[in-house]
Amino acid sequence: MKKLRLLSKRNIPGIERQIHAWHEEVFGTIDCTACGLCCRNMGPIFRNTDVKHICAAIGADPKRFHEDYLQQDPDGVGFMLRELPCPFQNADNTCSIYDVRTLSCVNFPHTNSVNIRRKLGGLALDSLYCPAAFMICEKIMETY
Ligand code: SF4
Ligand code: SF4
Repeated sequence: MKKLRLLSKRNIPGIERQIHAWHEEVFGTIDCTACGLCCRNMGPIFRNTDVKHICAAIGADPKRFHEDYLQQDPDGVGFMLRELPCPFQNADNTCSIYDVRTLSCVNFPHTNSVNIRRKLGGLALDSLYCPAAFMICEKIMETY
């Protein structure tokens, strides 16, 4: 974890392109519906636009949605779930609001994001639950 935090502060040519390639490779071998650990143990950040889209899709009142499911994220970025597992996770690990799931859900564990090198500390934390993030972290630490 310490090594990944240190790498996040170094400018290493080509590292982001390489991590994106590992993202494709690793997610090509992983079936997220056979896992579901992120939805069970972590939960996403809900921004106001996420809430708006989800409520429009499921016919919910945004104020009630906040009361029923959300609490302020301590970092002030948005809102987090009151309880885990995520109430929208189906028993077979699929997502009941898949088409309008949050941007945070879409991008998790962010290994194909443009500034992934600066997020390696967060990726190390994500790897505690996400096997794909763990495999990508291993590749990063073996290589750099
Ligand atoms: S909204 Fe869907 S994809 Fe996102 S955490 Fe919940 S079940 Fe998982
Ligand atoms: S924890 Fe990682 S591997 Fe598991 S479902 Fe979530 S993104 Fe996929």
